[in-house]
Formats: sequence, C-alpha cells, structure tokens
Amino acid sequence: METDDCNRDCGGGSAAAGGVAGASAGVEVRADAVAVSELSDAALHRRLAEIGRATSALAALRSETLRELTRRTDAATAEQTVKDTLRIPGWVARSDVKNSVALGDLDATRSGLEDGTIPDGHAQLIARASTEGPIDEAWLAERAQREGYDRFRRTVARHQAEASSDDGASLLERQRQARSGKIFTSRHEGMVVLNAQFDPVTGARLATVIAAAERRLYSNEDPKSRPSHTQRTADAIAMLMLEPDTARPVGTSLLVVADYDAVNHQLTNARLSDGTPIPIGEIGRIAADAQVLPAIFDHATGDLRMGRSRRTATELQRAALALRDQGCIGCDVSPDYCRAHHIIEWQHGGRTDYDNLVLVCNDCHHKIHDHGHTVERVPCTARYELRPPAPPTTDDCTAPRAPPA
Ligand SMILES: [Zn+2]
Repeated sequence: METDDCNRDCGGGSAAAGGVAGASAGVEVRADAVAVSELSDAALHRRLAEIGRATSALAALRSETLRELTRRTDAATAEQTVKDTLRIPGWVARSDVKNSVALGDLDATRSGLEDGTIPDGHAQLIARASTEGPIDEAWLAERAQREGYDRFRRTVARHQAEASSDDGASLLERQRQARSGKIFTSRHEGMVVLNAQFDPVTGARLATVIAAAERRLYSNEDPKSRPSHTQRTADAIAMLMLEPDTARPVGTSLLVVADYDAVNHQLTNARLSDGTPIPIGEIGRIAADAQVLPAIFDHATGDLRMGRSRRTATELQRAALALRDQGCIGCDVSPDYCRAHHIIEWQHGGRTDYDNLVLVCNDCHHKIHDHGHTVERVPCTARYELRPPAPPTTDDCTAPRAPPA
C-alpha cells in the first residue's frame, strides 16, 4: 500500500529530520553539543536519565500520532503507514497501533509517558493489559514509576489475575490460544530463526528446562573463554533438541506454589516461582506431571539449613530462594538464570543456609566479586538488594543543564 510522499520522505533517517520536520509537524529534537569524553560520571548518569525522559516523551508523541491516524482511517491503514514510515516489522506496527489506541483511555499512563516518569515499555504493558481485561490503571501507573521492567511485568500479571473474576482462568486460556511458532531463514543474515511464544505456564516449563541445561553448560566452561549469555542459551536449546537422550539435568522441576488457607481448608494464591499468578485449577492439572514440584512455602523453610555440610544450594533451597527473591536481586532476571550466592562467602566461613543465600545472575555475581557491589537487606521491605560501591557524587561545570521544570 502506498502512503503519501511526505510520510515516505520524512522517514529518511537523517538526524535532522526530527528538528527540521518539527517546524511544521510539532516535533523538535535537539541536544546541546557536548563532548561526552569530558563529562563526569555524574553528568553521564544525568544525561542518560534525560535521554530516558526524552525517549518516553517521544513515545507519547508517537502514540498520539498513531491514535489520530487510526481515527482518521482504520487500524489496518494506520499499521501500514507506520510500518512504511518508521520501517519497522509488521508485528511491531500492529502492537504499536493497538496499544496507542488503548492508551487513549489511560490518562495516568499517558501523562506519565508525556512527562517522562513512565518508560515506554511499562506503558505498553499497561496498554496491553487494558485490552485483556479489567485493570486499576491509576494503581499500575503509580507502580510503573518506580519498578524495573521485569518486576513491573510480574506486577501487571499479578494485578490482572487479581482483577479478573475467574482467578485468571480466562486470561490463561486466551494466552494459550495466542501461542505461535515459526521457523524461518533470515534473508538478511542467512541464519535460521526459531520464534515461538507460549502461555506463562508452558513458557515457565520450557524456561526451567533450558535454564537447567544452561547451568550445566556454564559449569563445564573454561572461565577464561566463556560464550555470551545468548550464545549459551542457543547452545542449550540445540543440545536439548539434538541430544534428547542426554540425562535431564537437576533443577528441571517446575515449581508451583500455593498458600494453604487453614480456615477454609483450601489452597489459594497459586503462582509460579517468579510470582506470576496462575489459576488455582492449574495446580491439579499440571501437578500430575512428575517434573512439577508443588510447594507450600511456609512449610518448606524449616529444612533449609545445610551449614558447612555442602557448598552448593540444594534444589529445595533454590526453590525457596526463588520464592523469596523472585529473581536476581540485582537486575530482576528470572530465578532460572540465577545462582545461589553466599552473603558471607564460603571461603570466609559462610554457611549454606537459606538466610545466608541470595539469588544473583552471572552478571551480577561478577559485579559482587570483581566490582565491589554488596548485598544489603532493606529493613522496611525485608528484601535483598545489590548496591554499587558508591554512586558518583562529584559534579563539574561540563554537566548539561537540567531541563526547565
Ligand atoms: Zn542480575
């Protein structure tokens, strides 16, 4: 489909396009000329924060524009226009248009995006959730202003289950129906691409198996020449598919958790180990599989002290840590990609006890051992966090000025 000439020409990709076209289209992007090599650490950090706010504000403009295009024509035409103009993949254009239309009714999220306090990715999560069922938008928008992406994604999932009238069962069913898979050769790079999406329960089962294979590959690697995380994930998937007879590595049980309501004698609040809620009925459905480890967290913690009898965490300890930390304490990645780290280190007499262990991913583990990051317990939330050595506090006159409030 052809779009008008102006759209085609403005998408030319020149850095000046934003500013020049802005005169007539109401968009202007301008940055002060600064020699970045002369900025202090604090100034670089502030610059990054300003870029983050500007990125959100631009996303708000994009969304407003797509909404208006859709209003004037229809969603399919708007999709084609944005795909041609921004030269993005069709599926991105489709979800962009859909979420932009949804944002029209989400006042708190829209204004957070406009003033840069809500990142674009967070706003997209809220917009998508609003198309899937009832949500408390103001509450989510408030959380979006202070949670990292991975944590907020889980917050949205939990909120959707709580707000649904059937314990999330219809949401899960919709997600099951939306499964898709595709294998193709990328024409550009000649690489074969596997692309698939699954509902959260199936996805967690696959992720658990892949992560366990990754941990095994990691432990057999030469520390001096490790592949990247994404290379290792590719190796793990290939190993699982091409060598299916390889013994299933330990740690492949999918952990599902529920609380026991002693008053009503029933299980409630079922969830995956990263906190993603699942309908309570799912427990019966998947617990028939021997690879699923059902747990009632409070009953499990009594048996989680291994002292100095072993250095590595047991599977039960890993499960309990996954429940408590819900992912890497430094960056929130899923518990599947984490290892148990001794807070008081093993070589300094630290014990393999639940309360001396935290979950960290390989990258954050590296930050602790090589870059002086420390594990701290936040008293008011009782959560563990990873703290950098000391934030840069020095300032200098080369720092860019803060934008007018
Ligand atoms: Zn991490």
